[in-house]
Amino acid sequence: MIATKGYAAQSPLTDLTPWDFNRRDVGPHDVQFDILYCGVCHSDLHQIRNEWFEGIFPMVPGHEIVGKVAKVGEHVKNFKVGDIVGTGCMVDSCRECQNCKDGLEQYCENGNIQTYNNVNKYTDGLPTYGGYSKTIVVNEDFVLHISDKLDLASTAPLLCAGITTYSPLRHWKVGKGHKLAVLGLGGLGHMAVKFGVAFGAEVTVLSTSPSKKEAAKKLGAHNFIVTTDAQQVQAAKGSFDFILDTVSASHDFPLYLSLLKTDGIHICVGAPTEPNEIPAHAIIGGRKSVAGSGIGGIKETQEMLDFCAENNIVSDIEIIDIKDISSAYERMLKGDVRYRFVIDIATL
Ligand code: NAP
Ligand code: ZN
Ligand code: ZN
Repeated sequence: MIATKGYAAQSPLTDLTPWDFNRRDVGPHDVQFDILYCGVCHSDLHQIRNEWFEGIFPMVPGHEIVGKVAKVGEHVKNFKVGDIVGTGCMVDSCRECQNCKDGLEQYCENGNIQTYNNVNKYTDGLPTYGGYSKTIVVNEDFVLHISDKLDLASTAPLLCAGITTYSPLRHWKVGKGHKLAVLGLGGLGHMAVKFGVAFGAEVTVLSTSPSKKEAAKKLGAHNFIVTTDAQQVQAAKGSFDFILDTVSASHDFPLYLSLLKTDGIHICVGAPTEPNEIPAHAIIGGRKSVAGSGIGGIKETQEMLDFCAENNIVSDIEIIDIKDISSAYERMLKGDVRYRFVIDIATL
């Protein structure tokens, strides 16, 4: 076993504190990398607070992980010591089901293994621990190459916020000629704006925070609508081809569905705890669809990272000391982050 350190929640009621634990030894197909930065996703907060399901504690969160390879197993061909790499939300899957064969490991029919708050049934049967820690051991198939063209700290959020917005925009071929609304301007939302603009769509931000207007324009958004302003909302009725919904709390679906054109699609990536009510009448008129999308497969994640390197796209971040993680969560809950906190693991 490899002894390491992290920050863990010992229960859903406690703040994160330092915790010593072990990683598995580096197997023939494993890559061990020392973590340099880890992004702070709203999913971390949902999970340490047991908002989605009963979690496994102690829990070391973090699935936007980047670092430098320290050791590789004897059969590893694709990575060498010193490479800059990353890992996102998954560390394993069955590799045998149709979805895995199709590069959709996130929808593995036998269950993918999440980077933390999961048990790795494909290896050691032990709980997985995430990136708020010094080092990690991951099967080579779930490790991504990161270009040295990109600022590393700002690249970390691409591993979740990036792929989670890139994948649905690619799947629904959002681009030139489309009007895309990005609902919620947080970690995921600001990446959706950058990708939407890069793919040629006309991008409108739908936000509850009037103070984000200027910043949204700087991100490249063409329009900004404050969703608490009834007049602005009324003027936007029936105008979007797609809404990419990144909201982390319960919200008014019929209101947002009314902003779609005929045949418009409302794509959910935000994962609030409470169920959302969608009356049939909100989608019957105008033949609208409500869809969902989860992160992205490994091949597509590499494609997204390469696209970002070519197009100089990274996340806008605020680097934090790991000691400040609890106040970062408080600020994230208030929507007070531009647009992703990233932990400098050297502070651990
Ligand atoms: P975040 O940085 O906290 O951003 C969420 C944004 O939603 C906020 O900045 C705020 O934007 C808006 N918002 C918050 N509460 C709202 C409310 N009550 N009504 C309307 N808007 C509200 O969170 P994130 O890290 O981007 O994650 C967003 C969600 O996606 C989370 O639920 C997370 O678990 C989920 N997620 C899903 C996947 C997936 O695979 N599908 C992957 C990663 C994360 P404004 O201030 O602009 O209104
Ligand atoms: Zn995430
Ligand atoms: Zn599978």
